[in-house]
Amino acid sequence: MKLTLLLLTSFLVQTAFGQDDTIQFYNGQIYHNLHVSGSRYDLFVDFCEFTEALGRDCQQQESQITIVIKGRTLLVDLKKKTAVVNGKTIPLRLQTSENRIFMSVRSLIRIYQPLLSRKLIYEPTSRVLHLAKKKTVSVSMGTGIDGNSFYLQVKHDKLSSKPALQFTDSYLILSFKTPYLRLDTSGVEFSEAILNVNLFDHLPDGTSEIHIELGKNVSSHRVDPYTADSGFIVVRFFGKFKAIKRGDSMTGESDAFGIHRIVIDPGHGGKDEGARGPTGLKEKHVTLLLCRALKRALESHGFDVLLTRESDYHLPLKVRTGFANNEKADLFLSIHLNAIPKPNAWGSETFYLSLNDDISTVDSYTIAFENRDLEEEKVEDIPSEEDLDLNLILWDLAQTEFLEDSFRVARYVQEELNILAGTKNRGVKQAPLKVLQGAQMPACLIEVAFISNPREEEKLRTPIFKSRVVKALTTAIRRYDRDVKERNRGKAPSQQGRQP
Ligand SMILES: [Zn+2]
Repeated sequence: MKLTLLLLTSFLVQTAFGQDDTIQFYNGQIYHNLHVSGSRYDLFVDFCEFTEALGRDCQQQESQITIVIKGRTLLVDLKKKTAVVNGKTIPLRLQTSENRIFMSVRSLIRIYQPLLSRKLIYEPTSRVLHLAKKKTVSVSMGTGIDGNSFYLQVKHDKLSSKPALQFTDSYLILSFKTPYLRLDTSGVEFSEAILNVNLFDHLPDGTSEIHIELGKNVSSHRVDPYTADSGFIVVRFFGKFKAIKRGDSMTGESDAFGIHRIVIDPGHGGKDEGARGPTGLKEKHVTLLLCRALKRALESHGFDVLLTRESDYHLPLKVRTGFANNEKADLFLSIHLNAIPKPNAWGSETFYLSLNDDISTVDSYTIAFENRDLEEEKVEDIPSEEDLDLNLILWDLAQTEFLEDSFRVARYVQEELNILAGTKNRGVKQAPLKVLQGAQMPACLIEVAFISNPREEEKLRTPIFKSRVVKALTTAIRRYDRDVKERNRGKAPSQQGRQP
């Protein structure tokens, strides 16, 4: 009997944690000590220490804590003992002691994994909690001709399982169960069968999709038997193709100089969220996704494309224009989503610079919104009125030279977006938009859709709609490029306005 008691107490001593017991959390860069409670087999971790180790504030308001990571929100309700993440409510096991909130390690993993889209692993023997390594899946694509068919070959590395294939609405969509995807399309030659390839990574559900746009003449397809070892997927496309010749260019572009470098500006970013949809979709996130895909689409047509921002951070308006000037871009496009207090407004609008400050009341809301420059509000050193006027005139003059071309670009963009939306309602507009002032190249601002409209917000969440927008914008820019070439044809290179 004595022996049993002794064994039992020594067992408890080994497994129950005291006040200052800690485990370690490795966030990929450094180790953090986290206070724990409970026992080795039912471990509770200091929730705020963990959150702060991820570089986030753990501020409690009433009985709630809100944490935002990568645009996703986690709401912890200490009273109800629940968490809401990605719209799902998850019950939590919590303990509080001496102003610390301890959460069971299982609850912690359940709520943080979807938020971080990374695996969170606790290893009881080493008492280390750590994030699984980011696994970027590499996918390379190539195309070829085999007899009377075009084929697409997709190779992915072994980190990922075979993507799901879905044929829909003139697209072949490959879905990968990872947000981290690197796509190499250098082996792709666009043809009558394959018109375009767009990548959408970091989707909100932690997946990625590759959209392959198929030509009208594709009448059927066949997927070759797949072996997991090879990591190869081969899809063959059959149809009435005009010419199947290796190296046949679909575009037949002339040698005249067109546009070469394009700077694309994903509207807003960082603390400037832009507009917000009725269910919380943020303009800054959608514009970034759209612009990344647009960059890849334009690059596949040989354009040199730069983005003013590559991720979610804030940039003042003049820095965006200045970047395009410094890079000597041939075209500057700022991409936005519209929002006005009327929830029924829908469709696209394309703006180019107006030198006239008179604006119709219809557009004044949009213009005031897009002209807000969060950085400028903090500037204490306000220039004299004289300086300001002179500056504005100089900035305006910079764009004056390009107004006609800006109008042409805006018209092509609006026409393509109208075809997409099946509308002619909204059109090309002129407005005194700050981000266009001072651009030393043709420039326009595109309001792709109304994020304030519940139906448009829903569409904006879908990759297929984003794909269509990217296609419309790509078509518009290629039309403008041909237009420039047409006007430059016959001119000697020295006479041509802009050279690649
Ligand atoms: Zn905007």
